[in-house]
Amino acid sequence: MTRNVRENISRLIPDPGQSAVLPKDGETNILITSALPYCNNVPHLGNIIGSVLSADVFSRYNRARNRRTLYICGTDEYGTASETAALKEGVTPRELCDKYHAVHKETYEWFDIGFDLFGRTSTPYHTEICQSVYLNLGKNDYLEKQVKDQTYCDGCVKFLADRYVEGICPHCGFPDARGDQCDGCSRTLDAIDLIEPRCLLDRSHKVVTRSSSHMYFKLDAIQPRLEEWIKESYKEGKWSPNATINTEGEIVDARVKTGLRPTPVTRDLTWGVPIPPLGREDDKEMDGKVLYVWFDAVNGYASITANYTPEWRQWWHNPENVKLYQFMGKDNVYFHTIYFPGMLLADGGHWTMLHHVSTTEYLNYEGGKFSKSKNRGVFGPQAKETGIPASVWRYYLLATRPETQDAMFSWADCIAANNNVLLKNFGNFVNRALKFVSSQYNGIIPESSDEPGPLSPNDPLDSEFINEVNALLKEYVDALESVKIRLGLQIAMLVSNRGNGYLQAAGLNKMFLAENPQRCAQVVSRAVNLIYVLSALIYPYMPSTSEAILEQLNAPARVIPEVLSTDILGGHHIGKPDHLFKPIDEKMEAVWKGKFEGSGGVSQEAPAPKRKPKKATADNARVNGVKENGPKSEEALALEARILEHGQYVRSLKEKKEAKEVIDAAVVELKKLKTELAALEKA
Ligand SMILES: [Zn+2]
Ligand SMILES: [Zn+2]
Repeated sequence: MTRNVRENISRLIPDPGQSAVLPKDGETNILITSALPYCNNVPHLGNIIGSVLSADVFSRYNRARNRRTLYICGTDEYGTASETAALKEGVTPRELCDKYHAVHKETYEWFDIGFDLFGRTSTPYHTEICQSVYLNLGKNDYLEKQVKDQTYCDGCVKFLADRYVEGICPHCGFPDARGDQCDGCSRTLDAIDLIEPRCLLDRSHKVVTRSSSHMYFKLDAIQPRLEEWIKESYKEGKWSPNATINTEGEIVDARVKTGLRPTPVTRDLTWGVPIPPLGREDDKEMDGKVLYVWFDAVNGYASITANYTPEWRQWWHNPENVKLYQFMGKDNVYFHTIYFPGMLLADGGHWTMLHHVSTTEYLNYEGGKFSKSKNRGVFGPQAKETGIPASVWRYYLLATRPETQDAMFSWADCIAANNNVLLKNFGNFVNRALKFVSSQYNGIIPESSDEPGPLSPNDPLDSEFINEVNALLKEYVDALESVKIRLGLQIAMLVSNRGNGYLQAAGLNKMFLAENPQRCAQVVSRAVNLIYVLSALIYPYMPSTSEAILEQLNAPARVIPEVLSTDILGGHHIGKPDHLFKPIDEKMEAVWKGKFEGSGGVSQEAPAPKRKPKKATADNARVNGVKENGPKSEEALALEARILEHGQYVRSLKEKKEAKEVIDAAVVELKKLKTELAALEKA
């Protein structure tokens, strides 16, 4: 197939993870991290939108601007929580982390999240980098020893973390107060103050108080320099206001305002980075202890980069040429804007420090919260079980991204996003134009009078269209440069909407072609080139959809342009047009709601937004013509759900043009289910 595409518009930066990218002096080099997920659980949709997916959009955006980009993430593996979870599951912490690392990796891969490396913190490089930072802190006089009383379990033969101790609250007498907080009076507690403390792992264990030495990071000593740095970086990196600093550029974090205090960086645990000797008298007292989990987690970004390339310092010790963007949920802001920068300043190395911090609020689920213990909401690998493609998941989650306030996941909205926006707006525009090329021009772009290159804003026929598209392109770039991810997506959809309007106004059809072939060729060329632009605009958001468009266009991946131009030229053969999105049956709302409802029922933890009842829900009462006669048995409801799911499956087989035997077998199974249901209804 002949390709006739203008040169010098291709995306040169490879897809994430394809080859080791290093920054280049004098260019804009982008280093991106998302908060390292903790390694003792399965991520839910809220975790995914919160950091890894948002960071992926920004990473792909920069690649589509031909900037050298590195996106790093991985599992945060050390600490009490994984040690205890391992104990519960009867495996070693290493085995537990192997298992959950794989679950996280697989989940993110399915969502098309393109890390350059999704690593882990339990590596030799990690130990080396953490220990070196610790030693530098010691050398620069930012570490001091303090001796503290702690709860110690004679049975476990170890110190107990606060949350593994229970006892009587010294304030209100509540019998089951936790070591860190009392649920009776809501006061925060120190575990050593509990009366009759008990070990949560075994109530028969004897819990006593013992003193233990720990190293403290003198955050107070670094505070003046840190405050100066926060105020400068806030301006320089255009942070959005967050828990650390407000819109007036005033530091609002309570800990900073009342004066930072030394904070312990060592723990009495075994699963962690061992404390290296500082060459002091009291080194022996640190024997057998490990670094505090946040101390080691924030150093994970550099250590995972070290596992990616031995040249990791080109990224992490290169503040002149590298801009660091960090993505996280709102609860991690302190550690990335105060704790981590404070540590790097105290370390004294030539570190690349935070340029822009991007945070999200929480995503809730169907009027309540995600809850792993109640199995409520969609967790990790379950997303693919719905049959909804990753692109559609990404679109819906990013369009709902909780940027300024908490947002709510809803199946009805998710289905509507697919059926109304992606299918009717975006998919329709792409398909209508390409099908026309295929059927009327034999798949070959007609020769239009447009010269290769930017279209003139003074075009005699389409100046309004061209100017509007160009204005949207500028808004899109502005939005993404300031990491306004949701806005960028809205603008991309406005661009395809504008494309639909253009075809509509021109009246693209066979008659138009017959009556005015020259103008028709021009309209087709301009529409196809707008589709090419769209392939780049949605690449950050829906990479596999972008790829599908490029395949249908038979064109190479391109950069995000500043103006609309003629890049796919006359004589170019396009590929085979196909629908980018498939409709989702609205009845699936009830099926999925039921499936992911969990054991707890609809929780009232967060108020549900008011929503007009959808037509689809009214239809849910009648499935496949079965009449509603009073409450249905559980068996009948389960069968109905299976019939709906199976119907969806049969449709997908037909769409994929599977072999006749396969489809026939599935249809037979569907009929069988329907007969069973009919029999049940009669009984
Ligand atoms: Zn114990
Ligand atoms: Zn209490």
